[in-house]
Amino acid sequence: MRELTHFIGGRHVKGASGRFADGFQPMTGEVITRVPLASKVEVRAAVQNSLAAQPAWGATNPQRRARVLMKFVDLVARDNDKIAEVIAREHGKTIPDARGDIQRGIEVVEFCVGAPHLMKGEYTVGAGPGIDIYSLRQPLGVVAGITPFNFPAMIPMWKFGPAIACGNAFILKPSERDVSAPLLFAELMMEAGLPPGILNVINGDKEAVDALLDDPDIQAIGFVGSTAIAEYVYSRGTAAGKRVQAFGGAKNHMVIMPDADMDQTVDALIGAGYGSAGERCMAISVAVPVGEKTADELVKRLIPRVEALKIGPSTDTSADYGPLVTAQALERVRGYVDLGIKEGATLAVDGRGFKMQGYENGYYLGGCLFDNVTKDMRIYKEEIFGPVLAVVRAKNYEEALALCNDHEYGNGVAIFTRDGDAARDFAARVQVGMIGVNVPIPVPIAYYTFGGWKRSMFGDLNQHGPDSIRFYTKTKTVTSRWPSGTKEGAEFSIPTMR
Ligand code: NAD
Repeated sequence: MRELTHFIGGRHVKGASGRFADGFQPMTGEVITRVPLASKVEVRAAVQNSLAAQPAWGATNPQRRARVLMKFVDLVARDNDKIAEVIAREHGKTIPDARGDIQRGIEVVEFCVGAPHLMKGEYTVGAGPGIDIYSLRQPLGVVAGITPFNFPAMIPMWKFGPAIACGNAFILKPSERDVSAPLLFAELMMEAGLPPGILNVINGDKEAVDALLDDPDIQAIGFVGSTAIAEYVYSRGTAAGKRVQAFGGAKNHMVIMPDADMDQTVDALIGAGYGSAGERCMAISVAVPVGEKTADELVKRLIPRVEALKIGPSTDTSADYGPLVTAQALERVRGYVDLGIKEGATLAVDGRGFKMQGYENGYYLGGCLFDNVTKDMRIYKEEIFGPVLAVVRAKNYEEALALCNDHEYGNGVAIFTRDGDAARDFAARVQVGMIGVNVPIPVPIAYYTFGGWKRSMFGDLNQHGPDSIRFYTKTKTVTSRWPSGTKEGAEFSIPTMR
């Protein structure tokens, strides 16, 4: 068993609190690492280290900062196999899926290489008599990110990429379930030429998170995780005067119109509902066929596909998905399947009996499919975060749209149809942040922004794309007049542009 570390000031630092979390390998159920859980004192030491390093990095010209990120992109490509394997072992997702996790993160770092352009301000010559005005963007200082278990590569990169490109020092508190990829990224950033202290990784649980939220020297917090914790982080962080963006849970619907291409729809639902064992904030967890005929056809076609899903250990590159992340997650998801039966839904495919030969202690669950789910059921209202798809039958388009709009979450949604009018109307009226038209997982590409609505997001600015540059910088506006400008004498009323 390996004892992991924090990463502070450009080097690995052993945990000093005496508290550790067991790091499990979901495919076998074995404990493979010990993860140190930082105390307030250790968090403060990381903040002080970043505080000392940030001014020089903030003053480094943006092109040079971008070059470090360019080098980092190359180094991640060089070590891709090693990083993907470590993610598969600690998270449980398959290696091809782990590669996707890395790639979606790298695409955002590539976008951040354009930060010198994106940080440019504006200039107006002659805004008044002898007056010029310009605006500029400056880094915030020391900022922190708190990230979830389900994308141990992508989400940390979505946070530290733009923050560092903009000249901030970044403290990452990754999920305690899978910390090795973030630690590898910190090492690679050093190799790419990042000065020590600009990317510190502090491992921990609530104690470390609270210490970051309360620390007066941290200017902004980017959080991703479940809604209850997102709301808590947002409230406590903003009460402490910080800028906070906190992304939470999801229940993503896919509306299937009667004219949808059924082959395409079923393929999309199988991938988006069960890929990564459903542990994605953009997974489709609710299918909403419109009309009984569409619903009957959909369920008839889905059943054999769900039964045929290939579940395997994370190292099996031909598996559709691997184990869930922890024994607790497995128990929670199974509990929801039991609950759905009690609530009166029809369990059309029951994956609870699935056993992985040779990996009996791993956290595996076969694909589960519920039909006849209704909107009052907890299995509809709550995020399950597992390989469980619920079919909610809607009488017509308006009823399907209302389901999406009335749900407390609003992260992603999709509509499958051949009707351009319906798709257009849906995109305009649905109260959800990211919409797919015949695209089941509409995660925007790096140069657009990512973020949900309603209780899937607390804060104003989204992740990646132009919003990320705004989030990690503050604007300054300079109004100047030189002595040679017009002399107007003392002025006692508010200056205006006459
Ligand atoms: P989580 O909320 O349990 O943990 C997220 C982070 O918060 C971790 O770093 C964890 O250590 C910390 N944390 C946990 N409990 C805490 C507490 N009581 N006080 C302070 N900090 C605490 O989430 P998770 O299980 O790691 O991730 C899955 C969740 O993340 C799902 O709800 C999923 O939908 C969501 N998610 C959302 C997005 C998005 O962009 N909206 C993306 C990925 C995942």
